[in-house]
Amino acid sequence: MHVVVIGTGIVGVCTAAWLQRGGHQVTFVDRLPPGEACSFGNAGSLSPSACLPVGMPSMWKKVPGWLLDPLGPLTVRWPYLPQVLPWLMRFLHHSSPREVERIATAMRQLLAPIFESYEPLLARADAQHLVRRTGCLYVYSSREIARQWQWGMDLRRRLGVVMQDVEQDELEHLEPDLQGRFRFGILAPENGSTLDPSELVKALHAQCERDGARTVLATATGFVRQRDQVRAVRLEAGEPIACDGVVIAGGAWSAQLTRALGLRVPLETQRGYHVTVNSNNLALRHTVMAVEHNMMVNPMAKGLRLAGSVEFAGLTAAPNYQRADVLLQRSRDMFPHLDVSRYTQWMGHRPCLPDSLPVLGQVPRVANAWCAFGHGHVGMCGGASTGREIAALIDGRPPAVDLAPFSPGRFA
Ligand SMILES: Cc1cc2nc3c(=O)[nH]c(=O)nc-3n(C[C@H](O)[C@H](O)[C@H](O)COP(=O)(O)OP(=O)(O)OC[C@H]3O[C@@H](n4cnc5c(N)ncnc54)[C@H](O)[C@@H]3O)c2cc1C
Repeated sequence: MHVVVIGTGIVGVCTAAWLQRGGHQVTFVDRLPPGEACSFGNAGSLSPSACLPVGMPSMWKKVPGWLLDPLGPLTVRWPYLPQVLPWLMRFLHHSSPREVERIATAMRQLLAPIFESYEPLLARADAQHLVRRTGCLYVYSSREIARQWQWGMDLRRRLGVVMQDVEQDELEHLEPDLQGRFRFGILAPENGSTLDPSELVKALHAQCERDGARTVLATATGFVRQRDQVRAVRLEAGEPIACDGVVIAGGAWSAQLTRALGLRVPLETQRGYHVTVNSNNLALRHTVMAVEHNMMVNPMAKGLRLAGSVEFAGLTAAPNYQRADVLLQRSRDMFPHLDVSRYTQWMGHRPCLPDSLPVLGQVPRVANAWCAFGHGHVGMCGGASTGREIAALIDGRPPAVDLAPFSPGRFA
């Protein structure tokens, strides 16, 4: 088949690479160069442990605080509140213990094979050096504080994630740069990360092109349809691109495209920020998750990346870089010896559904269009396994993962 993949973020590029392995021909459509949207500046963690949804039990108690603290770890911009309120209500509905167990069980299936589904793509693109498996340390100011997250940690363990308690003296041995600021940790030894998410996407995309893919730099606006089939993808400028099938991997912008195929999905953007400190004078060995601050710290090729924060303000509002300043301030508290003389800041749009599950599968009533978007906080983690599953669907092979919880029609 000739498949048009809309989106050259991690999800689109991995899906294309898996399609090519099955012998399909690929044309990419994206208005940006590869790896320049949300896949550009994320924290780069590749975590089989990241199966919990964002909405957790008793989160509703925190809602008033979110609204009142514009610089807190999770906030809603007031003018955007009326628009996002129905979405937030659904989000809270999916945060009951039963829902969280259901969602985590589904995500665990998708994320457990992170490395095995990236491996063949990395090997072909000669990009193994961009991924390492050094583990992630979740750190807490005390064991008592960590108990607030105990239920989620136990759920992860029940689902087969390896999580090892780390007492203070061992913590200092594992990560001397933390200098005793945290008194308890949990090590996820199977986790890994990328040295540069954008370079990873670019490397995989370049291999797709070497394997015959074409890339059209344009905005997709809709589809030419004949009965239950997409015949071509319409562009804002230029001739439609004829195809035998289409994959919508447009990240946070995907709902505009599915609507053109009669599918409405409650896709929202959770805007996140990063600071990359270019003068990284630390020697961190792991990715470090400062749980109380909801901040991921990852030593990367271009410096130390500090990433996190959730802001509901839609796709078009200007970034509020004060939120990135907060990340920088926290990093100073965490590592007073960190040289922060040179740094860059960034904001990206996480594509999020209220149940924190991506939308994976065939568009209802359209035989040759597939959804691959909505990975929220874990698109790097889920990119390659998503690609493998979508390629299986397109080939008519049984997927390795039960895709029912990810069904595109689940919000109908
Ligand atoms: C601060 C932060 C930290 C994060 N940390 C992590 C992490 O550590 N680990 C992890 O797994 N995930 C993390 N994430 C989430 C991760 O970055 C995303 O889930 C992932 O990048 C989404 O990839 P994507 O390919 O779906 O979307 P994107 O990378 O956004 O790509 C979508 C592409 O589609 C294109 N597009 C959309 N619509 C159209 C159209 N109509 N026509 C043409 N082109 C179109 C866009 O231009 C874009 O290039 C983080 C996110 C943020 C913001």
